[in-house]
This record gives sequence, C-alpha cells and structure tokens, in this order.
Amino acid sequence: MRSTKTESLELIKALSEAKAPSGFEDASIAVAGEFAETFAAVEEDHLRNLYVTPKKSQNSDKPVFMLDAHGDEVGMMIHSITPKGTLHFLTLGRWDPNILPASKVMVHTKFNTWIPGIIAAKPVHFMTEEEKGKPLNIADLVIDVGAVSYEDAVENFGVRIGEPAVSAVDFSYDEQHDIMFGKGFDCRIGCAAMLESVKRLSDKDLPFAVRGVMSAQEEVGERGVQVAVQNTAPQVAICFEGCPADDTFTEDYAVQTAMKKGPMLRFMDVSMIANPRYMRDTFELAEKLSIPCQASVRAGGGNNGAYVNLTGRGVPVIVIGIPVRYIHSHYGIASYSDFEAAVDLAVAVVEHMTQEKLESF
Ligand SMILES: [Zn+2]
Repeated sequence: MRSTKTESLELIKALSEAKAPSGFEDASIAVAGEFAETFAAVEEDHLRNLYVTPKKSQNSDKPVFMLDAHGDEVGMMIHSITPKGTLHFLTLGRWDPNILPASKVMVHTKFNTWIPGIIAAKPVHFMTEEEKGKPLNIADLVIDVGAVSYEDAVENFGVRIGEPAVSAVDFSYDEQHDIMFGKGFDCRIGCAAMLESVKRLSDKDLPFAVRGVMSAQEEVGERGVQVAVQNTAPQVAICFEGCPADDTFTEDYAVQTAMKKGPMLRFMDVSMIANPRYMRDTFELAEKLSIPCQASVRAGGGNNGAYVNLTGRGVPVIVIGIPVRYIHSHYGIASYSDFEAAVDLAVAVVEHMTQEKLESF
C-alpha cells in the first residue's frame, strides 16, 4: 500500500500548512489522523501524541517497532497586550529574534479563528543612535494585528493571553527543480515520512508490530515522546526529523546534511549517541539497496530518540533526518527526492529487522 507522488505532496502540503505549534498540535493531528484512518487505528492522548497502529499490528504480542516524528513546530505564545493594542509574546521553541521582524504570522483568537499579524520592532525612524544596529531581544518585538487599543485588540480582534501564533507561509512545490518551500518542515516533513512508511508497512507480515507515533512538544524539550514511549514500549525505533541542512554555508568537506543527497543518519548530537551497530547496519543496507544517505555528527541539536533510547533495555534508535534549509525560521526548503529516499530507507530497515539482528545491537 503506497501513496502516489501527488498524494504524498498533498499530505506534505496539508501538514506544512497546519497551524500547530508546541502544545497546540490539534491541526497537525487532524491532518495525520485523516490520512492514517484508511490503513490504521488512530488514537491520541492528553498531551496530543497521536498513535497510528496498522490493523495487522493491533492486539499483537509481537515486539514493537516504533516510528516517531514530532507533530509540533516552533511558534509563539501571546504574553501580554499593550495599551496600544500590540502583543508581546514568548517563543515556543528556539528562534533567533533577529530573523523575526517584518514577518507575517497568524494569531489564534478567542473566536477560534486565526488572524494575520506582523512582527514589528521599533522602526528605524524612531531609534536612537544607540539603538541602531543593536541585536534584538524577543522583548523588543511585538505582534501587530492592526488594533488601535487594548480594548480593540481584545474585544474586536479576540486576542488574549496564552493564545498561540505561527508563521504565515503557504506550501509550494517546484516540479522542475524538485524543490518544496514551506513552513514547519521541522518536523512535518518527518511526520509525512513516518506516516507514509507506516502505510507502506501496514499490509506486510513482519516479526514486529509497527506503531507510528506523532509526538507532541518536541521543540520545547522532547516532552510528548516521554509519554508516548511509555504507551508504546518499543524494542527498536526510528525517529524521523526535518534536520538543519548545512550545505549552503559549510565548506564542502564538512557538509553532512546536504539537500538532494538523501536523508541524514545522525551518529551523535548533544542528546544521544545512536546505537553504532544499528547505524552501521543501516548504512550497509542503504548501500546494498542504492538508497542515498548521509552520515552526520552534530555538535548541537537534540531529538526524540534521546528519550526513546533510555527506556526498556536501552532501545536501539536511529534518526532518519530529511535535510531542510533554514529550519527554525519562517521558511524551509526541502527536496521531494530526499523525502522519498527517507521513506524507502525506513521501510527497508523495518523489513530487514529480525529479533536476532536486534539482539546483536
Ligand atoms: Zn526543531
């Protein structure tokens, strides 16, 4: 059971455009749930983790192979409303404040609508000499929805403290150059790869029960997966990611996550050391099947695998990351061919996994 390219692009578009920052994952869950319903049972918990279990893996006493991707994205939360009607905010996940001004966001309201707003800094015309050229802090920025006073913002626009905001970016695909533009590819491109992998595995007879998880609140410290892994109790796992591509500003010899070179497998980041035997086995498999992939060793970063691999008997985990240029900004660039290679690799890894091999890890 596999989707066509058109179907996969529709899924990626819907996931990318879903307004679902950390803690507010309802919209990405709705998209994923609708896609998965045709081949799996779909459940969620109170943290907004989504569990996707194919029919063949339900009521199974086989060991569980967990396929995870996080359903949230970086965003903002309204902190306070000024007498002028502008909105102070905190970030959900890590943003560089210097890339935020003069960008459009969508703000959720008490009327359950999303309204446009512009992130504004003090205009240069009104800056003192000292203020000019200084790096910005989040506290220097506001979201302006066009209100003229506190009352106008609250009563007419429906803004209120605690509401989320997200980047306002539409998805597009350039077929000729095989390039996708969109927001939230960290980790919606990973969610799409996870869902398509579970779909392709759903009608296979395997020695493992397959369970897809779209976990919540990764961007604020891998919170959802800590609950999801308890509910899933896997023996082995793959965590999908939309990973920061480094190919536009790194010397060639050091590039490890280039667009159009296949998914990245991460040996290490600050949160985990991937099981090296599982890693080498996956690289061998990729080579045998001629699936492009890249090896990465990260000085920074973190991912859900950190929590998965610290459960049970030490669950072997690999991260399959699809390179995305400029994650944690409003706009991402990714290639459909990398998405396809990530799915091909993940499906092959699951199909080739045996209990014996797992024990050797
Ligand atoms: Zn991220």
